[in-house]
Amino acid sequence: MNLDSPIKKVIRTTGRHLRLLEKLNIKTAGDLINYFPRSYSDSSEVIELAYAKINQLSTFKGRISSITNIRTKTGKILTKAVFSDKSGMIEVVWFNQPFITRILKEGSVIFLSGKPKIINHRLTLSNPSYEQVKPEQLHTARIIPIYHETEGLSSKWLREKIAAVLEPAIQEIEEYLPETIIRKYNLMPIKQAYKEIHFPQNEFTIDSARKRLGFDELLFIHIKSLLSKQKTISRTINTSRAINVNYDEIKRFIAGLAFMLTKAQKISTAQILRDMQKDFPMSRLMQGDVGCGKTVVAAIAAFAAIKDKWQAVFMAPTEILANQHNKTLRKLLEPHRIVCELLTGSTSAKERRKISQGLTNGDIHLIIGTHALIQPNIKFRHLGLAVIDEQHKFGVRQREILNSHGYPHVLNLSATPIPRTLALTIYGDQDLSIIDEMPPGRKQIITRIVPESKRADAYNWIRKQIQQRNEQAFVICPLIDESDKLELKAVEKEYERLTNVVFPDLSVSFVHGRLSQENKDKIMDDFKANRINILVSTSVIEVGIDIPNATIMIIEGAERFGLAQLHQFRGRIGRGESQSYCFLFTNTWSEQGIRRLHSLTRFHSGFKLAEIDLSMRGPGEFFGVKQSGIPDLKLASLTDSHLIAQVHEAAKELMAANPDLNNFPKLKNRIGQFSDITRN
Ligand code: ADP
Ligand code: MG
Repeated sequence: MNLDSPIKKVIRTTGRHLRLLEKLNIKTAGDLINYFPRSYSDSSEVIELAYAKINQLSTFKGRISSITNIRTKTGKILTKAVFSDKSGMIEVVWFNQPFITRILKEGSVIFLSGKPKIINHRLTLSNPSYEQVKPEQLHTARIIPIYHETEGLSSKWLREKIAAVLEPAIQEIEEYLPETIIRKYNLMPIKQAYKEIHFPQNEFTIDSARKRLGFDELLFIHIKSLLSKQKTISRTINTSRAINVNYDEIKRFIAGLAFMLTKAQKISTAQILRDMQKDFPMSRLMQGDVGCGKTVVAAIAAFAAIKDKWQAVFMAPTEILANQHNKTLRKLLEPHRIVCELLTGSTSAKERRKISQGLTNGDIHLIIGTHALIQPNIKFRHLGLAVIDEQHKFGVRQREILNSHGYPHVLNLSATPIPRTLALTIYGDQDLSIIDEMPPGRKQIITRIVPESKRADAYNWIRKQIQQRNEQAFVICPLIDESDKLELKAVEKEYERLTNVVFPDLSVSFVHGRLSQENKDKIMDDFKANRINILVSTSVIEVGIDIPNATIMIIEGAERFGLAQLHQFRGRIGRGESQSYCFLFTNTWSEQGIRRLHSLTRFHSGFKLAEIDLSMRGPGEFFGVKQSGIPDLKLASLTDSHLIAQVHEAAKELMAANPDLNNFPKLKNRIGQFSDITRN
């Protein structure tokens, strides 16, 4: 066996089980042993029956003195047994598992694990786990690993299969971390860590195993991103894309703005301008809540590049946002004789040809658009800067095309807040600018959780706001999957209900991803012009829409979204002078669910909310697995800043003397095999 052996060669099982394993992404022996337990149940202490305590999970070792199946009046099969050790005896019953009489015979010496109860005045164990006494126990009398189950694959089944594969698989694993690192950070050797994570000797060895494997997980991600950064630098050094920044012009540009930049905006601007003057490409991520003013900072960068005779692109994930950026950027840049054009999926072929020409001959300075604009057939005269809004929505392919234009400086914008240490770990190949303050004068959005029983009251209140104060409202329907056909239905249904039943006296409209661009634009324009009072939409129009008069937002099924997403939705309101309100409609009764939503009512910083959701739910759920570009970590906790700090230090040490890691071929090889979902 080796770690790449297909799973069907290493365990004996059915086709159905193989398909279920595949669903869990388990295809090889290596995958199987990397399927780590989600928790453990401690039944390591074996006690005598005389000391059995009611309702307390305990393990007993003894002998079956009788066992039979009987049929109850209701037709169910009951397996009844008597079990005893030298201190006493207990009755045992199992429901609907008649096969047990074939496994456990009179006289069998076994372990039983369960909670004793008094049934019909007798001490009874019902449905205990059982296991023959062996040199090494699997399911009883030890700390038992509990695996995430999926329909048809039980934790017990997984435990058996993993136990069968673990020993031979571990023999194939070679320690890949250098001895110095292992010693310095007090890490468990890798073979032992695999053994202990699955079948621990005690709770201390669980901790050590988790630490070792979590350390490796973060280290792989971090080193991977550092290696990728080095690759780009070494490939592109001296490509002399260095932009000559004219600070006097920049100062004048900034002085001409309608507002003063915030301190955070100034710092980010300085960082970006400094990067762009280097002769290798900038790779920088600018993070900040919706509405913090990233666009204008990006515009300054574009201005700087263009004033030095370079071209710039500005890419947005949706047409609506591209349109809005187009308007904003033109307003900012055209007075400085900068030529801007817009290119999206709905640009006509004729127009496209014209734009293509303008880009080739350099007449167009700034091109704004969706991914429609980075097609291989588009050629630039000399592209200097690419700004990418919500970068995780663009794939590797698009980045490659961008780089094929001679490695421009790249500025990524993100409204998904990630705590700094985490961002440095997973985006180690990008430098980080953080805008952690809002322009002055913004009012906090008052956010309330609305239970179903208060729905009518909320509607009445909203009607009053709209009729008396002439304000507008968004209604967001809970659709996680943008490609889902149900999207259309849910939005249209909600629209029908609101326009016919709830607000027949108001003007209600809807917008979703499936409408034609023309239609969408018309609706957004109508909404902007306040010809529509209430706009129903999905998560499609995600961030960045600027409609100052919209002050109310209802989010249906709020419990189904991550906090980051809810916070981003909320960012669509609160852009004007008057107080804004966000209502989270929810049916959840779970305490954790309510507590989570409650944090939105208390906190207004995306970074703070990110931390909360990360610690409560883990990264996958917080960011929405597909959307985020955040790796789905198995063991490492993204909030364990101590571990993250150690990993940073270790990576630095490993790469200091040998940046390409060639002195550590085993580690390099292991990192090469490691796949995560950071890079799509
Ligand atoms: P983001 O892209 O970060 O979500 P925007 O760039 O769209 O945010 O900015 C939101 C709004 O704030 C815009 O109307 C913008 O003109 C305005 N704005 C940006 N920076 C400032 C500032 N320093 N002071 C006042 N208003 C600002
Ligand atoms: Mg924006």
